[in-house]
Amino acid sequence: MKIEGELTGNLEIKRFYLEGLKITEKCPKCGKEIIHKTCLSYPEINGIEQIWFVCEDCDDYNFGKRIQVNISIIEVDDKILEYGE
Ligand SMILES: [Zn+2]
Repeated sequence: MKIEGELTGNLEIKRFYLEGLKITEKCPKCGKEIIHKTCLSYPEINGIEQIWFVCEDCDDYNFGKRIQVNISIIEVDDKILEYGE
């Protein structure tokens, strides 16, 4: 199997929760470690997205960071599957 090209488009997911990930960042004002709790909305495949953190200790100070949603399609193995198997 040969896979060519670059995956593009949009995930078409209104609320893309980053399940399984724990993303933390230090508040730039007070240094407290903040856990990311929000989700992405319609993230672009391989696109740069923003995530937001809220520091309650700094009067609900909001700050963001940039992440990239990398999605890759790879061949798992060389097994030939029979349809309906
Ligand atoms: Zn803070």
